[in-house]
Amino acid sequence: MGSEGFTPAELLGQDLATVEQTVIHDRFRLGIIIHLLLFGDHPFKGRWVGPGDSPDPNELLQKGWWPYAPNSPIQASSLTTPLTVVHPAIQDCFVRCFNTGHLQPSARPSANEWMGVLREAIADLKRCHKVKNHYFSKTYGRCYWCDRKKSLGVDVFPGIPTTQQTLVAKTTQRVKVKVDGLGQKATQKLKRFPSHATNVTAPTQLPSSPLPKVGATPKVRTEIPTTQISSASSISTSPPWIKRPWVRLGGIAGILVGLFSILVWLSQSQLEGEEMSLTLVGGGLCFGLIVFCLILVSLTQKSQN
Ligand SMILES: [Zn+2]
Repeated sequence: MGSEGFTPAELLGQDLATVEQTVIHDRFRLGIIIHLLLFGDHPFKGRWVGPGDSPDPNELLQKGWWPYAPNSPIQASSLTTPLTVVHPAIQDCFVRCFNTGHLQPSARPSANEWMGVLREAIADLKRCHKVKNHYFSKTYGRCYWCDRKKSLGVDVFPGIPTTQQTLVAKTTQRVKVKVDGLGQKATQKLKRFPSHATNVTAPTQLPSSPLPKVGATPKVRTEIPTTQISSASSISTSPPWIKRPWVRLGGIAGILVGLFSILVWLSQSQLEGEEMSLTLVGGGLCFGLIVFCLILVSLTQKSQN
């Protein structure tokens, strides 16, 4: 709640343990989070154009200095994604949250308002005709990501190279992937996994950024590079036929039939004394061996997945 960069100006310098906080304060934090998600960076950052050194992050926040505040001594750097590329309704919400809301906290947009404008903005998105990973607001009128690539030489959402697409098309195997932090397993058919999937950088990376960076991308590994798949399949020690369900079912059925036959034979035989004990010990050892083998096979399967 009191994290640096997330505390509204009116609460800065106060004892957050005793001061009464309301939804108005949370609306400021919501605005910061939505900005981080949309632009990959904190709004109260930028290139300092005022006299002397740039003040510390809390002072910028306390004065309401972000690149779109009136007469702000902070300007958006060339690497920053400009506010104008998003839908006008979203721009308006940010202005209300950080400009109007700076002096009148009650003017900050509510979560419901944000939801409405975000839905409106999503409906307004258009796919770039050059790079299929690019989307832009129709109201902006052109692909910002193509423009950015041209001016900065870096495409933050590059398309999948043709050679990889061919490789991916040939790969239709199903793999199990782990979701970090949850420990869950999700089976997902890998249709596309660009090699850059682990190297996606936030659209705006400023060299000097005293404010804390919030991970804009949760660590969910739903995409695996092709190299990992090939190495995993080469490590595999079990033959492929053992993974077929009918082979497993057949094996279990065979074991059950065998055990049933032994029980029937024991109940009908006339074994007594030492012979009976030896038979029971032998049967028990065989059963234990079968269970041990089954556990071993299941553990091998788990470690491969
Ligand atoms: Zn584009």
